[in-house]
Amino acid sequence: MADHDLMILPLTCPGCSAPLQATPREVVYYCRLCRCAAELCGRETKPRSMLHAAGNGDLFLPFWVAPFSFQSAGVTVGTRGEFARFSGNILREGAGADSPSLLFLPAFSLQAPQVIRIGRQMTLRMPLLRGASQAPERIGEIEMAECDVEPMAEAVVVSALPEERRKSFSFMKEFRVTIGTPRLCTIPFLSRNRKCYSSELNLEF
Ligand SMILES: [Zn+2]
Repeated sequence: MADHDLMILPLTCPGCSAPLQATPREVVYYCRLCRCAAELCGRETKPRSMLHAAGNGDLFLPFWVAPFSFQSAGVTVGTRGEFARFSGNILREGAGADSPSLLFLPAFSLQAPQVIRIGRQMTLRMPLLRGASQAPERIGEIEMAECDVEPMAEAVVVSALPEERRKSFSFMKEFRVTIGTPRLCTIPFLSRNRKCYSSELNLEF
């Protein structure tokens, strides 16, 4: 088929075969009937695994979560404990200091500066996600594709590091972020007056 031909594909859920509702900007689709996620691979929809985090809230916002490490000026940081120390934070006891540090990036619709701000705050807090007992009926629309996670990762990680390290020329020159495979998760927020809150994450936007 030539490039200029339009192709109309019916989006059907790979889990229950129901038609999927989608906006043009969505990249991963959520089925409200069987509560599973799907993405388009070629002409077919394939299931996409997703973790739904437990917590308080009526709005389930999607995030990409990926293990990450960074290297710079002879230092390698790749665990929660090391990242907390390096970013000037204190990790709570029992918070898995030796497990991989996790990058969080909002997958819902936001302007780039907001993606970095919320990504930074979540990455600094690095919440330990417990799975909810039930998948939500609706989730926020997923508009950031998996392939966009890596290009955003460096900006988020560097924004989480203290000023003096960021300002050092050699630190920035050698700075490299490596990420593992991103996975999708939803995190519950409370929505009030067009704002989103999470008291557990101490986050508002
Ligand atoms: Zn379904």
